[in-house]
Amino acid sequence: MAGSSSQSFELCEDPSFWKDHNVQVIIRIRPLSSAEISLQGYSKCVRQESCQTVTWTGHPESRFTFDLVADENVSQEKLFKVAGVPMVENCVGGYNSCMFAYGQTGSGKTHTMLGDIEGGTRRHSVNCGMTPRVFEYLFSRIQKEKEVRRDEKLRFTCKCSFLEIYNEQILDLLDPSSINLQIREDIKKGIHVENLKEIEVSSARDVIQQAHSTNRKVAATNMNRASSRSHSVFTCIIESKWESQGVSHHRFARLNLVDLAGSERQKSSGAEGERLKEATNINKSLSTLGLVIMNLVNVSNGKSLHVPYRDSKLTFLLQDSLGGNSKTIIIANISPSNCCSLETLSTLKFAQRAKFIKNNAIVNEDTSGDVLAMRMQIQQLKKEVSRLR
Ligand code: ADP
Ligand code: MG
Repeated sequence: MAGSSSQSFELCEDPSFWKDHNVQVIIRIRPLSSAEISLQGYSKCVRQESCQTVTWTGHPESRFTFDLVADENVSQEKLFKVAGVPMVENCVGGYNSCMFAYGQTGSGKTHTMLGDIEGGTRRHSVNCGMTPRVFEYLFSRIQKEKEVRRDEKLRFTCKCSFLEIYNEQILDLLDPSSINLQIREDIKKGIHVENLKEIEVSSARDVIQQAHSTNRKVAATNMNRASSRSHSVFTCIIESKWESQGVSHHRFARLNLVDLAGSERQKSSGAEGERLKEATNINKSLSTLGLVIMNLVNVSNGKSLHVPYRDSKLTFLLQDSLGGNSKTIIIANISPSNCCSLETLSTLKFAQRAKFIKNNAIVNEDTSGDVLAMRMQIQQLKKEVSRLR
């Protein structure tokens, strides 16, 4: 179905839409900025065809299909309902979940992941982004679940951490004195950052206050004064414990919300000296991310290939989210402006490859009463056998 760029497309809000997919790829097209309009007029490098299809209008024209294409008419609230709500439902159900924002500087990654959070969580702030909405919904969802399952003594704990990968070093944003933290892997904790500060949160407001009090390293480039050269990873571990029929249950899920550094090729932004070193390291994490995805696609096509997760901090940390035990949503942000045409094409191609990643998400649950329940069953069966003799 062909459509004009002014046409708006209805996005599906049904959470079951996502149920069987472990990797979702969404394209978000931001509106033209006033500077772009004054420079280029209204000419655009993309044309949305449907809520799943977008055409890059350069030469030669290329058409791409994704799980969802959200244009400038899709509000923060709508995107949250379509992608954020099912993600929180999955976390409450015990699935690890991850949401990445990918795209060139200025394409709308931070707007999507954080948006306008001035003044804390404002229920009616139209511009507040995914993270505040996710936590507002998560805590209201937890409250509801506790009320419904009062008999099961259901308890929840949510612990958050917030880190930044800058120059291939991990900084703890909740404890700025902690720099160059190391990633470790063990059977009990899985992949984790050693000595990273974790704080328990019990409301969306707690989360926003933490986000406010952090200082992201932002350096000016020729392209955009506020361009971010670091990857930020906000993690929340959601644990729940309850009892049913004498059996204790323990569920846990890791939720990662990731705002990546600008994906633009650093050469084009005129980097030199210290900036060039930063740029090389940003490229390292992003190029390794690209390579990991490329190899995962080949692996899913039956090829046997090494997936170089450990070649960058970003891919090592997010190993589970890429080809592992996680339900992952990639939001590839693009500018519709003609002046960003090549970067937009590059993001569309990245997102197209990411569509082929296959994750294997499972519910993380310990049932400590299992052994007990089995023993009781054995005893019962023994009794029945002796009765039959
Ligand atoms: P990035 O984090 O990718 O560098 P930003 O999120 O900072 O980009 O977005 C750049 C500018 O564009 C900001 O002023 C932001 O408010 C605006 N913007 C981005 N996406 C949207 C959108 N979907 N709707 C309205 N404004 C947007
Ligand atoms: Mg940003």
